[in-house]
Amino acid sequence: MTKPETLLHERSARSALTKTGGFLKGFSHTLQPYIGCRFGCTYCYVSQSNVHRFYNGGLEWGNYVYPKVGIAEKLEQELERLHRRDALDSAAIFMSSSTDPYQSAERTYRLTRRCLSVFQEMPPGLLVVQTRAPLASRDFDIMAALGQRLLLNFTIETDREDVRRNLTPHCPSIQQRLNTVRQARKRGIATQVTVSPCLPYSSVEAFGKQLLEVCDRVVVDSYVSGDGGGGKRTARTEIPGLYARSGWEDWRSQEAALALYDWLCKRIGNRAAWSKEGFTRQARSVTGEVR
Ligand code: SF4
Repeated sequence: MTKPETLLHERSARSALTKTGGFLKGFSHTLQPYIGCRFGCTYCYVSQSNVHRFYNGGLEWGNYVYPKVGIAEKLEQELERLHRRDALDSAAIFMSSSTDPYQSAERTYRLTRRCLSVFQEMPPGLLVVQTRAPLASRDFDIMAALGQRLLLNFTIETDREDVRRNLTPHCPSIQQRLNTVRQARKRGIATQVTVSPCLPYSSVEAFGKQLLEVCDRVVVDSYVSGDGGGGKRTARTEIPGLYARSGWEDWRSQEAALALYDWLCKRIGNRAAWSKEGFTRQARSVTGEVR
């Protein structure tokens, strides 16, 4: 599917790290190399945020991207400051919560790669790289070098291509994502799949088996438990209409997500996790802080 009018406009980064608020419990900072996200998922909560209200330039969510040029240099200065204050080892950084660090602009701008190179020199206690893009494989060399300080978190919300095309038409295919996770594991990178939000899937067994073929850490979440508003944020998106038109079950139901989570628990024990709390516990377990 082609995208409508888009905006790609460079901005000078004024800073790199942002201290986290309540939503990302267990993390000290977030890092967003871009403002905006070309994947433009229909359920994305960033589309209701102040970031979107401030930067959209009259365009829909998904149709603008501002690369934050110079962000790696800012990051270097900020990590040096954390190091001087003896706070680098306890820093837990999430890259990224309101953009995808491996969207297409990264091919040209390489801001994420530059940030990773800075982290390689000054590793924080934990760095979570959150993406759904196969482009991440370009940087597996640096990710592998970060060892137990890094968790690569890949979003795969369904095993049904028709569902992906309907709800996230500009995102990479499910097969591409599964292949990338498989490659990451082969390179020894701590990798986790997040089924978040859990979208309609074929069957628990078929989807669960596909996930466990590539990964042994999985977090499952639903719209209601994962949107930060008990489902209210999702209700303001296109999701209710899209579900109704597609004849899918009520988007508020958590049954399918819980069934998948239960199935995974029986096979991988506490490497299966539920929602935000489970996500934080899993991320911490990579660095050996939680067993
Ligand atoms: S990839 Fe993430 S940040 Fe980008 S639109 Fe989708 S949910 Fe939002």
